[in-house]
Amino acid sequence: MLRFFILTIFPEFFDSPLKVSILKRAIEKKLIDVELINIRDFSKDKHRKVDDYPYGGGAGMVMKPEPIFEAIDYVNSITASQKKRIILMSPQGKIFNNEIARELSKEEELIIICGHYEGVDERVKTLITDEISIGDFVLTGGEIPALAVIDAVSRLLPGVLGCDESALFESFSDGLLEYPQYTRPEEYRGLKVPEVLLSGNHREVALFRRKESLRITYEKRPDLLKKAKLTEDDKKLLKELNIDLD
Ligand code: SAH
Repeated sequence: MLRFFILTIFPEFFDSPLKVSILKRAIEKKLIDVELINIRDFSKDKHRKVDDYPYGGGAGMVMKPEPIFEAIDYVNSITASQKKRIILMSPQGKIFNNEIARELSKEEELIIICGHYEGVDERVKTLITDEISIGDFVLTGGEIPALAVIDAVSRLLPGVLGCDESALFESFSDGLLEYPQYTRPEEYRGLKVPEVLLSGNHREVALFRRKESLRITYEKRPDLLKKAKLTEDDKKLLKELNIDLD
């Protein structure tokens, strides 16, 4: 089981996302566990204040170091390993991707800190092992980013998705974007499902999908195609598509 410890001042953010669909089932099946630690519980202030004015002046409030340090001490006191990764969600972090998700999915315990206001006191960074961003934009808090990490990491764990293959053959799993998918009906408003998918010829279907995957990656994310490990067969398919990578 992968245990997530989420340090937040708004635990209610996590209410419904963890109570529906795949994450709900993953928790029920004890494949993951999400423990919400309210940073306010570690405030010494009688109003449970966790932020204060920035030294040097300027706009906004900064999250104080003590409650976060103590919340981490608390998590360490209730867990066996003292060497877990401590992640700070931050727009200044490394941009999250499937490779980082795969790496994190191998851990047994992860602490994720959700910032708010102007962010956290810089001294908190002496504790953290990873600073992760979910993209070049600024959100009001780290809860939505933390949920994105929990979701992306959890679906890579064996047993979380209905069919384990779904995580093996999908966008980014092999450096390419996924091929297009169709379901019933065969024709809708004059739009037909490609003939080959109805043929029952597995080899032809696989070839079609690989070719589409290459085509879509070229059109939408040429940067990924340049980095992908391509086989000789892939190169032949690219030639058929008139795609020249050089
Ligand atoms: N003033 C800070 C931004 C604070 S945003 C700065 O300029 O860097 C408040 C909090 O929201 C952050 O502490 C972080 O936890 C979270 N957050 C905002 N945008 C984020 C992003 N793109 N990725 C991850 N976390 C983010």
